[in-house]
Amino acid sequence: MVAVEFPILGTEPLSVEFANTLYGLGDPVDYLRVPEWIDLWFAETGHRANGAMGEDGERIRALRDAVHAVLSAAVEARPAESGAVQCLNEFAAAAPTVLRLDWAAGAPVSRWMDTVRGPDAVLGRIATCCIELLTGPRAERLRRCPGPGCSMFFVKNHPRRRWCDPSCGHRDRQARYYRRRLARGASR
Ligand SMILES: [Zn+2]
Repeated sequence: MVAVEFPILGTEPLSVEFANTLYGLGDPVDYLRVPEWIDLWFAETGHRANGAMGEDGERIRALRDAVHAVLSAAVEARPAESGAVQCLNEFAAAAPTVLRLDWAAGAPVSRWMDTVRGPDAVLGRIATCCIELLTGPRAERLRRCPGPGCSMFFVKNHPRRRWCDPSCGHRDRQARYYRRRLARGASR
């Protein structure tokens, strides 16, 4: 198997990392296009569901495309396509969670419990995570990286963060440097 380096930032909500598996603008690279990569991606992000995710490629890519579509709409400040919204809602509905009360440790503690297992639970969590992100306080800090050739979504978690990753800022400075040199060369 070919080693693959996924565009995982490791800093973002799961739904954002998931959307970033469609990498680049125009003719994007799909990092979930083969079953092996799907299993690897879920393993690397710590959401492996009995290692069986890869067999669900078509549904997984459908949800990923929907998450990507609604995050794109959000950063472009326009309404999302109704099909993408419906897709998210269907995945969220297929994996409802229930609030569970636990009093075993002497004080009441609550926990959200999945009502289903396997891929449905993981995909439902991603859909729910996306809905919460878009409608919660982090929504206004959602950004698309302006780095050259980059399209990664990220949640701006501190005021000075401009890039998905510092390496993108570095590439941008390099690109501007070469453009200036080219411009100077052309004017001579
Ligand atoms: Zn970037």
